[in-house]
Amino acid sequence: MLASEAVRTDLPQILTALPGPRAKALIERDARVLSPSYTRSYPLVVSRGEGAMVEDVDGNRFLDFNAGIAVVATGHCHPEVVSAIQRQAAQLIHMSGTDFYYENMVRLAEKLAAISPGSESHRVYFGNSGTEATEAAMKLARYYTGRDKFIAFYGGFHGRTYGSLSLTASKVIQRRGFGPLLPGVYHATFPDTYRRPHGRTPDDYAIDCVRAIEDQLFRHTLPAEDVAAIIVEPIQGEGGYLIPPKVFFEELRALADRHKILLVFDEVQSGMGRTGKMWAAEHFGLSPDIFTTAKGLASGMPLSAAIARSEIMDWRPGAHASTFGGNPVAVAASLATIDLLERELLANSERMGEYLMDRLRTWPARFRHVGDVRGLGLMIGIEIVRDQETKERAADLRDRIVSLAFERGLLILGAGTNSIRLSPPLIISRDQADFAVSTLEECLTAIEKI
Ligand code: PLP
Repeated sequence: MLASEAVRTDLPQILTALPGPRAKALIERDARVLSPSYTRSYPLVVSRGEGAMVEDVDGNRFLDFNAGIAVVATGHCHPEVVSAIQRQAAQLIHMSGTDFYYENMVRLAEKLAAISPGSESHRVYFGNSGTEATEAAMKLARYYTGRDKFIAFYGGFHGRTYGSLSLTASKVIQRRGFGPLLPGVYHATFPDTYRRPHGRTPDDYAIDCVRAIEDQLFRHTLPAEDVAAIIVEPIQGEGGYLIPPKVFFEELRALADRHKILLVFDEVQSGMGRTGKMWAAEHFGLSPDIFTTAKGLASGMPLSAAIARSEIMDWRPGAHASTFGGNPVAVAASLATIDLLERELLANSERMGEYLMDRLRTWPARFRHVGDVRGLGLMIGIEIVRDQETKERAADLRDRIVSLAFERGLLILGAGTNSIRLSPPLIISRDQADFAVSTLEECLTAIEKI
């Protein structure tokens, strides 16, 4: 075989029609027994993964620019994460960290406290999922402040259990049929600067959004002194990968401080190096009172954390706990993940994010249906519009691009009504970034002909 013919295992290879025969058979079985509430954008039946690549049950190889929805920060089955899991599983799988002590749970909490934004000391509460971290943050905020109301943002996503769902204001389908939700949750406008009112700069608009909390909510419907916390994603994830200007958080911090309201950052999607820094909060020079992390925390093992200033996380034994939270195997995976991030992957996330953005920035000028491209590190959103003048949201075209990319071996997903999200593992190479860019360019050219 010539060197030029060598099989590239780091790039996609599609061998069958999609879905292939095995995938098709499995999808039929799935439809009979699994909850139909899951959302599957395309028929991918995964059998294994390595690095940024996943293979389906028919032997087709895909480049995963989702990272299992921003979860496998270190890539699929990173050898150091795998061996940490294997070693821990052979030694101890569970004893219940809420009733007994584990050394690694302490080590991980020490590590998270040390890398938390801000210089104050922090304490850590472990759960298993993003939504549990949100619930913990909400309960802690009420407990600490003695107040019961919350402010969240339109477009925000914080989870699907009752407390977190009450904050979530992303898609109506997530709430339809489930009311009544938690009372006392109010929503404010998140600054989508691409869609700012005519004549306002991004900074003006961000300031307007915070002022509206004071001028409207606090004036008409919500006594400020009843509010326990403002809960916000520093970068809206499910809402469309929206990055607010820094001044938004400066104003929000000032407003929260004026009224003795806690500021809670949901870093479930934006944390763990996704934006090229450990926490998105670092881009905004801000330390929240409480923040949450989950998705990338243990590279695919179920683990989440609510992290607060020590003075705030001062509740009584029994106030909150979880049987599985801080499970030793997940904790071992997390220690290995953070080690890899600090050694090399934070830098790669920043470097590859800049590399991708340099190429993607030109797209609104080159492609009729690209309205906006925005990104920090490897958290990049591409907004698809009918045309750039009207900025009409083109969900159908976005969905078509997602399908076309799948057919070409590139896994991407939508975010918000009409955006594409790129959230690859933090280990991607330049060749993989190039493949993703050229594949997406092909897809964008193809939809211009529709
Ligand atoms: N918060 C944010 C910002 C998220 O993106 C998500 C999940 O997508 C959640 C919370 C909920 O996480 P989980 O699905 O693990 O409950």
